[in-house]
Amino acid sequence: METKYLFFTGGVVSSVGKGVTAAALGLALKERGFKVAVQKLDPYINVDPGTMSPYQHGEVYVLDDGAETDLDLGHYERFIDIRLSRVSNFTTGQVYAETIAKERRGDYLGGTIQVIPHITNEIKRRIGLAAKETGAEIMILEVGGTVGDIESQPFLEALRQLRNEVGRENCLFIHVTWLPIIGATGEIKTKPTQHSVAALRSIGISPNVIIARADQDVAQDLCDKIALFCDVENEAVIPMKTANNLYEIPLLLEELGVGDLLLKKLEMQSRRKADMRPWKKLADEIKKEKPTVRVALVGKYVELQDAYMSVREALKHAALANGAEVVIHWIHSADLEKEKSWNLIKESDAILVPGGFGSRGVEGKILAARYARENKIPYLGLCLGMQVMCIEFARDVLKLEDANSSEFDHSTPHPVIDLMTDQRSITDMGGTMRLGLYPCALQAGTKAAAAYNASSVDERHRHRLEFNNHYRADFEKRGMIFSGLSPDGRLVEIVELKDHPYMVGSQFHPEFLSRPMKPHPLFMGLIKAAKEKAKK
Ligand code: GLN
Repeated sequence: METKYLFFTGGVVSSVGKGVTAAALGLALKERGFKVAVQKLDPYINVDPGTMSPYQHGEVYVLDDGAETDLDLGHYERFIDIRLSRVSNFTTGQVYAETIAKERRGDYLGGTIQVIPHITNEIKRRIGLAAKETGAEIMILEVGGTVGDIESQPFLEALRQLRNEVGRENCLFIHVTWLPIIGATGEIKTKPTQHSVAALRSIGISPNVIIARADQDVAQDLCDKIALFCDVENEAVIPMKTANNLYEIPLLLEELGVGDLLLKKLEMQSRRKADMRPWKKLADEIKKEKPTVRVALVGKYVELQDAYMSVREALKHAALANGAEVVIHWIHSADLEKEKSWNLIKESDAILVPGGFGSRGVEGKILAARYARENKIPYLGLCLGMQVMCIEFARDVLKLEDANSSEFDHSTPHPVIDLMTDQRSITDMGGTMRLGLYPCALQAGTKAAAAYNASSVDERHRHRLEFNNHYRADFEKRGMIFSGLSPDGRLVEIVELKDHPYMVGSQFHPEFLSRPMKPHPLFMGLIKAAKEKAKK
């Protein structure tokens, strides 16, 4: 079968759920028996989001092969339940870097290098590569940003060209827009959608489907108006009201018949009936009245929850599987240093310290770990959260007062967290950490081994520093258990406290492998322990 392409573009404003919509429609097509792959095209000039501040970009989502990617790839993996690879995300930065390298090598034989055709060719080459490598029958391509942005133009132009190369019958343009509501009159407006479609048409692209997002129900006559003004068929205007919960979106799109509509427009037959029962069950579970567990998330980017997208979702997955509703207390670690927000910590049934970089707020995280250890509050530390758990233990239990990570104090006499020798000579920031999937051997009889119910697991990493083996014996003597190690025993991957209901830290990021239907064992362990605590 020839590969079919679904091109997702955004109109009016960003952050209206284009990525989630693309992911949920990927699920709809997978459920109909097709091999689906996804690719996100990001128009910014960074080579990848790995070097960007989480304030700017939200979370950096890490794949098995160590690619540092856009957080939308998290939506794709969670909804479609697939494992993506490096080809699934590329940026303007990568496209230009490759093109300029070719030019320097002389590959263009003296030609003048231009956006059309050289940049657009490189974009199309990367799309072709992903189609080939994934063997997808249906490729979903999401263009980041909003139509009208200068930087997304080469991407849209490349898609326009691709449409002619693969044949119009083999692709659909799906435009996701936003219908604002005027507060004074409560009226829903379609004009911005009309303008964004006009902008698309001015570069030669007419959308086949318009998904009109709104905070309210959109009446049929408004859909018909959009169809008329934007030159799409009436049935191809999909009114999509904001869902109460992310995981209701696949059901919503199913009810609206979008999966079948896409196949019809691609002149394809569904291979089987979509089985949405597990999603229905999940949605029903979400709606049920449940006991709450309160988790304090102590981070440094808490003003922007997107910075902890996968952590938040993993907490939700584990809570649902435990028949509980998670309430997250977002706590700025720097506040804890200033004696602020402790009331929220005290009102929580568990503490989670996520990953992070740089010294700002790190002492507050250490205080949170101390509180969890001393008061036997369930604790999960992710990457930096595991490192602060070790620093706190060294300072207070081993009495190594100045213990620290060499990331925060170069001259600490006790670098319990330190750079590995192979990281010492690296000066470049981009893509140079320990990244991606690594095996971890679980030590029998530990909480970690019990949670996973396995002897070995593979988990995704994104960090530079490691536990310093020089201190291992001392830690063990005082009740820290190294429950997960690299298979050669050299790297500490999971630590846990002996005399504590659940104080576990992982050097990797378990949140990237949690799925709505398959919650992550370490998060399950945390929520179980938190539920116990809440009961008391
Ligand atoms: N900054 C720490 C390191 O590089 C932790 C990284 C993280 O939390 N992802 O090792």
